[in-house]
Amino acid sequence: MNELSYWLLRCENRLLASIDNTGGNILPCGQASDFDSPKDALLVGEWQGLPCYTVDIDRLPENISGELMSLRSLLNVAGTEAISLIVRATMLLDWRKNHRYCGKCSTPTIIRSGESSMECPSCGLVAYPRISPVVMVLVGRGDELLLARSPRFKPGVFSALAGFVEAGETLEQCAKREVREEVGIEISNLRYFGSQPWPFPDSLMVGFFADYAGGIITPDPSEIEAAAWYSRSALPLLPEPVTLARQLIDAACV
Ligand SMILES: [Zn+2]
Repeated sequence: MNELSYWLLRCENRLLASIDNTGGNILPCGQASDFDSPKDALLVGEWQGLPCYTVDIDRLPENISGELMSLRSLLNVAGTEAISLIVRATMLLDWRKNHRYCGKCSTPTIIRSGESSMECPSCGLVAYPRISPVVMVLVGRGDELLLARSPRFKPGVFSALAGFVEAGETLEQCAKREVREEVGIEISNLRYFGSQPWPFPDSLMVGFFADYAGGIITPDPSEIEAAAWYSRSALPLLPEPVTLARQLIDAACV
């Protein structure tokens, strides 16, 4: 770890970013000693030919320049490759923080060397990073798209419908159930679009297009505060370009 590396340092849930003039170098680079040799650093992967480590720290090392940014802000300015590392680092840090004890026998867990897993030294239970699949569906009806907003969204923003996959459910079953539950609409002709790891907190977003197949929009008030059909040429405020939701909507408007 004393070799030159990139570092994703998380301090009070914000990440240290170091952006050069070209906007290319978004992660601080240096030896472990430059960052007070943090304990428990995790290897995230490789970036620009160098290893990349991540670690939670209580306070920033002295003489380190950069800006502490929220995860969302950082994702909005990072390039595709950096986003992948940032998301992975965040998921690994959260996973380690949340699996310090065995869920079966409460013994403190240890990290298995060589792979991303935590093992209980007493009963042998192994915990892998948690990944929670979320199905996202953009429903089309002729020129129109069905967009909705959750009370959690920024003011004015509308998006595709989304929901967590339940135990024992296929992605296709989840898509139909979520759309029916959230807005009372039936869908058909589900087409896969793409996927995106999303660290709020441990999701894997899986995006689909679908066709309207019946029903009248009836929002479930516990999840949806507004939903409507929008012409592709007159869309409301949309999620940030970095999100799969936005990429899904943009792809439907090409
Ligand atoms: Zn155990």
